[in-house]
This record gives sequence, structure tokens and C-alpha cells, in this order.
Amino acid sequence: MYDLKGKKGLIVGVANQHSIAFSCAKILDRQGAMLIASYANEKAAPFVLPLQDSVPDVLFKQCDVSCDEQLANLIAFTQSTFGKIDFLIHSVAFAPLQDLEGRLIDAHREGVQLAMDVSCLSFVRLVRLLEPILNPSSSLITMSYLGSTRAVKNYGLMGPIKAALESSVRYMALELGQQGHRVNAISPGPIKTRAASGLKDFEQLLETSELKSPLNRHLSIEDVAGTALFLVSDLSKAITGGILYVDNGYHAVG
Ligand code: NAD
Repeated sequence: MYDLKGKKGLIVGVANQHSIAFSCAKILDRQGAMLIASYANEKAAPFVLPLQDSVPDVLFKQCDVSCDEQLANLIAFTQSTFGKIDFLIHSVAFAPLQDLEGRLIDAHREGVQLAMDVSCLSFVRLVRLLEPILNPSSSLITMSYLGSTRAVKNYGLMGPIKAALESSVRYMALELGQQGHRVNAISPGPIKTRAASGLKDFEQLLETSELKSPLNRHLSIEDVAGTALFLVSDLSKAITGGILYVDNGYHAVG
């Protein structure tokens, strides 16, 4: 049912084995998709390149999404390797710690601009650059969070940025629908990853969402990857402009 043989795509945002992006790479690779997975910089390489052993067919490529030249190189590499592709998974977020830790109203302009550029605008940029090499009915996916629609303690400036990301999903769904492309966001509940560990009192957020969620269970990166698999597959061909919550139901009751 989820046979992805013949599908090719790009996954952006692997930092280590705990990354949502890596879990997506593993499950899509297992279902037969051909993949390029990118990581941000040379500092990440020692944590990322050893992952090649568990996904030997995945091609890893370095790319800082805030750098136009590196983005262009990633697109050129994708085109020369695959010709055209069928999906993009954007699983990237960043905010300078000093701006993330403080109040939104105290965040520095440079910090907000950088966080917006990396966490939201890079998705839009990637889609624009990839458009010429997208097969019809491609699936374009990004990762959001509930802090986009609710004020979640300690999520600070990332809340408005995820709100902009979700709005971009809806606009791009409208703009690209004619070509059959689908644009969606997955909104996972809290999961212990490197990005999440930058949030103040993250353990408390994790505990609360586990305790209060209707399914009352531990959430894993594999849960998120399963939804990414569904969105990449043709089974989700009528879903676009959506925010799919993968949070054990917390958004409905928390
Ligand atoms: P992660 O740290 O494994 O992934 C974040 C990735 O962003 C890393 O690979 C990092 O290198 C990359 N990144 C940051 N700046 C970059 C840049 N300039 N260029 C290229 N890459 C850059 O953490 P994760 O939890 O897997 O995060 C993936 C996505 O999921 C993020 O968008 C995050 O906001 C979202 N998300 C995470 C949670 C959670 O609790 N873990 C919940 C909801 C949403």
C-alpha cells in the first residue's frame, strides 16, 4: 500500500539519529524511495555521516539553507542525481538561544530575522527552486508545532514563525494546486530531539503533553515519520493545505 518504488525526493534537516528527518529517511528508504538527505554544516557531519550505515542507499549532502549558494548546489545535485523528484520534506528550525529563551517582545531583530529565514522562508525558497524539477503531483511537507496557534510557554518567537510557516503552506497549496502538487505541514507534539532541547523546561512540556493527551502514550519520531510516509504516498492525493497533528490528540484537548 505504501510502496514508494520509483519515487525520488529530498529530505532537509538531519542532525543525528534522533532527528525527525532521519526517521523519515529510514521509513521512506525502507519503502523503496530514492533519497537525498541534507545536513546543515561540517559540525553536524560526524553525527550524520555514520548514519549512512543504516541507510546505505540514501545520499547525504551538506547544505546550510540560509546560504543561497549552498541551496543552489543542493538543487543542482538533486537534479543531476534524480532529474525530477516527487517530494520534499523540510524539517528545519533554528533560533538564536538568547532570543528563544527570552520573551518575544525582547527578541533582537537580527535573531528574529535569522529564525524566520531558516525556519520558515527556507521552505518557501526550496519549493521555488525545486519547482522546475518537480514531477506532477509532488508532495511538499514541512514540520510545524501547536505553538503556531496557541501561546505555549517558552516557545516565544518560534510561535509567530510557525504561524507564518503554516500560512505559507496554505498559500503554496493554492498556488501549486494547478500542477497537482500538494503542500502540507505535520505538527508533531513534543519529542526529545536536539532542536527541542533548546527550549526552556522542555521536559515539563513533554510530561504535560504525555499526561494530558487522549492517547496518553509516548510520542516518537517514528510516529511522525509514519505520517510523512502517508503524505508522500499517493494515498494522500486529496490532501493539501493541511496541518496534520501527530501529537496523540493533545491539540484537541490540551
Ligand atoms: P533536529 O535538531 O534533529 O532537527 C532540526 C534541524 O534543523 C537540524 O538538522 C538542524 O541542523 C537543522 N538546521 C538548523 N539550521 C539550519 C540551517 N541554517 N541550514 C540547514 N539546516 C538547519 O530536531 P527535530 O525535532 O527533528 O526538528 C525538525 C523539525 O520538527 C523542526 O521544524 C521543528 O520545529 C519541528 N518540530 C519538532 C518538535 C519536537 O518536539 N522535536 C515538535 C514540533 C515540531
